[in-house]
Amino acid sequence: MSMEVIQTVDGLWRAKHQLCSEFAAKEQKRPYVGFVPTMGNLHDGHLSLVRRMVDECDVSAVSIFVNPTQFGPGEDFNEYPRTPEADLMRCEDAGVDIVFIPESGALYAPDHSTEVIVRKLTDGYCGAARPGHFAGVTLVVAKLLNIVHPDIAYFGQKDYQQFRVIERMVRDLDFPLDIVMSPTVREPDGLAMSSRNAYLGDDERRAAATIYEGLEALADAFAAGQDGAEALKEVARSKLADMVQLEYLEIADAWSLEPKESAASGDVVLVAAKVGGIRLIDNIILAAGEENAD
Ligand code: AMP
Repeated sequence: MSMEVIQTVDGLWRAKHQLCSEFAAKEQKRPYVGFVPTMGNLHDGHLSLVRRMVDECDVSAVSIFVNPTQFGPGEDFNEYPRTPEADLMRCEDAGVDIVFIPESGALYAPDHSTEVIVRKLTDGYCGAARPGHFAGVTLVVAKLLNIVHPDIAYFGQKDYQQFRVIERMVRDLDFPLDIVMSPTVREPDGLAMSSRNAYLGDDERRAAATIYEGLEALADAFAAGQDGAEALKEVARSKLADMVQLEYLEIADAWSLEPKESAASGDVVLVAAKVGGIRLIDNIILAAGEENAD
């Protein structure tokens, strides 16, 4: 079956209805519909979500949309890498049924005036550094979930705060779906895959890898029995290359994201840093005396 590439909301509804009807007629049951929202420029991190969806679902949809409402003034909306042809080929190779790739005008009416705000969880970390960012994320994800209406949607652990924010929105607004957090996919040296890594020069790229080195060293120190947050954070900081300008490094409760003074198994370590002006984020979940889940 060939992949459908759809640019309008109406077109998406029709294509999804058709595919679901065909599946129901053939299999005598309602299909389980999966969804992976992305901003495109797909790398192996995105594809891990896509492949998992295709594996677990009867009908699979990916959206590719560089969402203007989640970029602040002076951020990289215009420069954000756009590679639609390569993205479509990757989706087709992965066995995706529908790719939704709307123009901005197909999603946002010129007088759109509704906000979707998750409070508190969005105050700190990336929310503090990027005012309005999470309001843009929750708005577009709410719209995409209403348009695609999946049974399950997949998000990456790489954007940990984003996942917790979306999870809270889904719970608070009773969106009828499951959401899944899938592990961060990394480069061989540990750097979390990100479309923004392509902006890094060679020296910056090497320096960027020390962010995950720091996280791993912190997690190892925790596994070895250290639990004071300040001392643990110092272990991570000591690994960072000089070029890495830390924006935040915090050990936090996995659900509330409240900072912890004493770390416990299951807590998350959240980090954001700039390397040569490029903002990178990462995280790791602490585990006592065993492999850390990243
Ligand atoms: P984006 O295109 O950056 O909006 O990302 C789309 C989805 O892919 C989000 O759920 C991200 O968390 C996820 N994602 C991005 N990078 C990675 C990665 N390195 N590993 C796993 N998931 C990722």
